[in-house]
Amino acid sequence: MANYLKRPQGTEDVTPERINKWKTVEKVTRDIAESFGFSEIRIPTFEVTELFQRSVGETTDVVQKEMYSVIAKETQFTLRPEGTAGTIRAMLQNGMLAEALPQKVFYQLSCFRHERPQAGRLREFHQFGVEMAGPASPYADAEVILLGKTVLDRLGIKDIVLNLNSIGCPKCRAKYQEALKAYFEPHKAELCETCQERLVRNPMRLLDCKSPEDQAIAKDAPVILDYLCEECKEHFELVKSALTSMGVEYVINPKIVRGLDYYTKTVFEFITTSIGAQGTVCAGGRYDGLIEQLGGQPIPALGFGMGLERLILTMEQQGCEFFAQNKCDVYLAPMDADAKPVALQYANALRDMGVRAEFDLLDRSFKSQMKYANKLGAKYLVVLGSNELEQGRGQIKNMETGKQHEIRLDSAANFAEDYSGISLAEMFDTEAS
Ligand code: ATP
Ligand code: MG
Repeated sequence: MANYLKRPQGTEDVTPERINKWKTVEKVTRDIAESFGFSEIRIPTFEVTELFQRSVGETTDVVQKEMYSVIAKETQFTLRPEGTAGTIRAMLQNGMLAEALPQKVFYQLSCFRHERPQAGRLREFHQFGVEMAGPASPYADAEVILLGKTVLDRLGIKDIVLNLNSIGCPKCRAKYQEALKAYFEPHKAELCETCQERLVRNPMRLLDCKSPEDQAIAKDAPVILDYLCEECKEHFELVKSALTSMGVEYVINPKIVRGLDYYTKTVFEFITTSIGAQGTVCAGGRYDGLIEQLGGQPIPALGFGMGLERLILTMEQQGCEFFAQNKCDVYLAPMDADAKPVALQYANALRDMGVRAEFDLLDRSFKSQMKYANKLGAKYLVVLGSNELEQGRGQIKNMETGKQHEIRLDSAANFAEDYSGISLAEMFDTEAS
């Protein structure tokens, strides 16, 4: 096949056959975010590259290796690798942070990262994310985590573990970074090239390295929880007790440091074992320094991103239910050229009544129209032949039960008047003969 006929590596087509899965996760995430008082925000697909360098962080994998950037007319732009930076940029630019806080927004958007494609890891993927700006309270952390948990529960996902950690504030992290440096220094020569640089610039990033050799070295590294200052410790305790009071179970996982630089205090991931190695379906935390770092007031904030492909993959693996496919309610079968414009009128009268109606557009034979109506899963069939049109009445057939019901076919307007405001079953199944 010619190259231009193949989709780029690490991207996906969502064909109509699978679209119901996307509609399911899009609707459920939106409904739940709105029930928690979050409003939708939409931001550009690309931003000035510097935004990501300054927020996600220069020493992260995302910025060092994974960004899709272009130079257009001397400005460098990057396709968003995540949603937080653009969202905070939009909050700042639109004066949202000068309004009553908290600001609570959610988004459903595509992200782009140049990674090695594999199951659950794409180059274009989609996130449902929420961001809350304003509250320093640990109850906000609990609320955001609860939102994520509610989504997973509502979708019917099981066996998913909430992994919780605190990575402290810049104050406690300074001491921790020193301890990490001291720990890794003797192993410097064995570390991968990137990590040798990280050792100097940002030792905590070493814990996030995917190389098995480096992971083995990092196994006994000091853990951040032992270095938390009083304030961070108390915050973490309150988050944990709030979650416990809501019946949310978690495990403490000191290995979770998150792949982006802007996090502080609480970080978390919901991890499933159902979809292999890329099991983190939802990841997030607090990023109290980010807004100020980007030139705003020192306003604390937090949020998460949920990978929609991984979410759907998990649901498929676990046999969770998706919304039903869009189906045809009534299929109209015109038998000759004269019946076509009549079919068009009745189809439209039905649509005005909220009924999904279709008719033959391909001049098919009666037999192949029946085949097609079956393929569409049509619930009812109306045959429009010359007899029916002459007599001004015909039959509507319930395709499942085979029962027929007489209907008037003298004019689409009369038909609409007779049946408006009644459900399909009430219309056509009540006195079925
Ligand atoms: P990972 O450790 O899997 O690389 P990450 O730390 O890079 O994840 P985040 O930047 O926190 O991930 O993104 C939030 C969520 O977005 C992830 O938990 C995951 O569900 C999803 N995600 C991230 N990268 C990809 C990708 N390349 N393909 C599909 N989903 C992804
Ligand atoms: Mg990653």
